[in-house]
Amino acid sequence: MEAPYAKLEQLEPGVARVLAHNPSAFTYYGTQTYLIGEKEVAVVDPGPDLPEHLDALEQAIGGRRVVAIMCTHTHRDHSPASRPLSEATGAPIIGCAPLALETVGPRADAAFDGDYEPDRVLQGGETLELDGKAVTAVATPGHTSNHLCFAYEGALLTGDHVMGWSTTVVVPPDGDMAEYMRSLDKLRQRDDRIYYPAHGPAVTNPQQYVRHLVGHRMQREKQILGLVGEKPRPIPDIVANAYPGLDPRLVVAAGGSVLAHLVDLERRGLVERDGDTWTAVSPSR
Ligand SMILES: [Zn+2]
Repeated sequence: MEAPYAKLEQLEPGVARVLAHNPSAFTYYGTQTYLIGEKEVAVVDPGPDLPEHLDALEQAIGGRRVVAIMCTHTHRDHSPASRPLSEATGAPIIGCAPLALETVGPRADAAFDGDYEPDRVLQGGETLELDGKAVTAVATPGHTSNHLCFAYEGALLTGDHVMGWSTTVVVPPDGDMAEYMRSLDKLRQRDDRIYYPAHGPAVTNPQQYVRHLVGHRMQREKQILGLVGEKPRPIPDIVANAYPGLDPRLVVAAGGSVLAHLVDLERRGLVERDGDTWTAVSPSR
């Protein structure tokens, strides 16, 4: 497949997409930036700061008023282009919160864009107007603590909360599995017609897809609980058993997701850790 880098794809009236050229084991073909609106537009997840991508976005905007540049979260493949795009268009950066200063230490690994500076932070439920239509923020922490989805005309722009090609990476301390599951549940309470994720194809059966994601996580949890129930194990050992044949580039991320499950299980009193090893807490105690 020839990926449509720097090309404007009109997906439905008021929703168009431009793919950035930053393919990787984590981004699939790259970050998909969305333009929503018709006479006026909002740019969602402007993406990495790449000249070719910024040129393509400016061309796609085509001189229309940009009401907002919106980021779902502040991973480096999502928010850095907000700054040059804001400079070029004069549009404000409105969307997710930056990570709180006191959390910038251990929470901010290399994947975070520490320079992100929004003009306005949206809380869940807050809206912006675009051509007289509402864009509503839906708070969906889990993948990151500051993650938002954006609802527009029955479509939900899901960022990395729900992706179209792979399960979402949830890595503590900023990533939180319990929050992620609650945020999936929040999507189940909604009746969005379609999801447009930042990576991978559109999801045209949202309810079924989210049910599948929840089931997958619950199965993974059960599997991890089973493994640490057999004997105390360190995370690399759990990863080797739970993810046979895993792409070596994804081993660290898988370890992060296993840790996210274990932290959640520990909070629920089902496992305990001793140094680097984890053990199931026997129900009799
Ligand atoms: Zn992300």
